[in-house]
Amino acid sequence: MQYYSLHKDSPKVPFSEAVIKGLAPDRGLYFPESIQSLSTSFFENIEELDNVEIAFQAIQQFIGEEIPEVELRDILTDVLSFDFPVVEIEDNLGTLELFHGPTMAFKDVGARFMARCMGYFNRANENHVTVLVATSGDTGGAVANGFLGVKGVDVVILYPKGKVSEIQEKQLTTLGQNITALEIDGVFDDCQDMVKTAFLDTDITSYKQLTSANSINVARWLPQLFYFLFAYKQVKSKGKDIVFSVPSGNFGNICAGIVAQKLGLPVKHFIASTNVNDTVVRYLETSEYDPKPSKATISNAMDVGNPSNFIRIQQLFDNDFSILKNNFSAYSFDDQQTKKAMGKIYKKSNYVADPHGAVGYLGLQKQGLKSTEYGIFLETAHPVKFLDVVEDTLNIKVEIPSQIQKVMNKEKHSIPIKSYEALKEFLLQ
Ligand SMILES: *Cc1c(COP(=O)(O)O)cnc(C)c1O
Repeated sequence: MQYYSLHKDSPKVPFSEAVIKGLAPDRGLYFPESIQSLSTSFFENIEELDNVEIAFQAIQQFIGEEIPEVELRDILTDVLSFDFPVVEIEDNLGTLELFHGPTMAFKDVGARFMARCMGYFNRANENHVTVLVATSGDTGGAVANGFLGVKGVDVVILYPKGKVSEIQEKQLTTLGQNITALEIDGVFDDCQDMVKTAFLDTDITSYKQLTSANSINVARWLPQLFYFLFAYKQVKSKGKDIVFSVPSGNFGNICAGIVAQKLGLPVKHFIASTNVNDTVVRYLETSEYDPKPSKATISNAMDVGNPSNFIRIQQLFDNDFSILKNNFSAYSFDDQQTKKAMGKIYKKSNYVADPHGAVGYLGLQKQGLKSTEYGIFLETAHPVKFLDVVEDTLNIKVEIPSQIQKVMNKEKHSIPIKSYEALKEFLLQ
């Protein structure tokens, strides 16, 4: 499979090169040259397939010959070694829990898949790659964990000082080995801008091979399409039309869901649920794309002012505003509404949702479900990742799982960075 740049000013590249480069030389995101739908029998018999088989059949075309079948199946077996349950919390409304991985964030799957692909591509040579990643919260921990100890890869994580939760910070600053955390004086968009600038800085790129582990990287982005297939497998027997609500920040997860739909997955509608960082919501109202600096919220992994994957979503809908509007809605909710929803879900269903999941729930409420529909909101992080907000809002104590407790007792190591020049100096040293 070849990938082209959405800026259309760079040569096409195979999967391995798209993964190693991250972003095309013209700064465009890579996009698969074609998307072939899967057979109808795949969807008819999906209940009989295990998760690794589903994932293998779905992802193989995007990789092609570059990773042989046996190795690809090994990678997937390793990556998908936990559950992805749909938990029904109301009639015809469920939550797809994506937090059963090692860092309890949905990004574990993408990060682990990308790390293992890079490990495979690096298997023969000693060429060093530096993964440079900006995080608004959960990406950092998942990437740090996924890449820990991967040969030939150094990971540098940029996170906004004081804007991630204590647990998130511990997860990305305590691992050591090939993982370094940089604490940036700024907001997430500053971190993301610095990463993008570094990719284009030939002083750096002529000195070391940089790549990204944000969802701009195809190996981080595409495996997220598995979630939507796993959800379908579980609710298919209900015979309803499925509506997905995806808590969205950089819009990588929901964009992968739309790829799953292109593969033939029956999805009635997609809802992108956001916090007050509402660039896409305003776009759908006005057809004007007007990014704004991100604002801090209690669902901080979605504090993104200029979602990098939205351009891929437009491409998936043929850059046609009316097709997009018919298949896709976006709604924005503030922290007050989010907390109220957390309270309502807890009271009504005795279910503890984290702020991101609660935003997803609100999206389904706002859309309104017909009796023929089944709504699924994605629960993208375990409530313990947002402990203070969850405990204060619901007036409960959340039990801290052992893998989180272990991290909390470790010592934080980070390097403060105040400007792009300081980042550059760090990368060149
Ligand atoms: C990253 C993240 C999101 C947003 O996902 P995108 O793919 O960037 O839209 C939502 N919730 C949590 C907990 C996250 O970590």
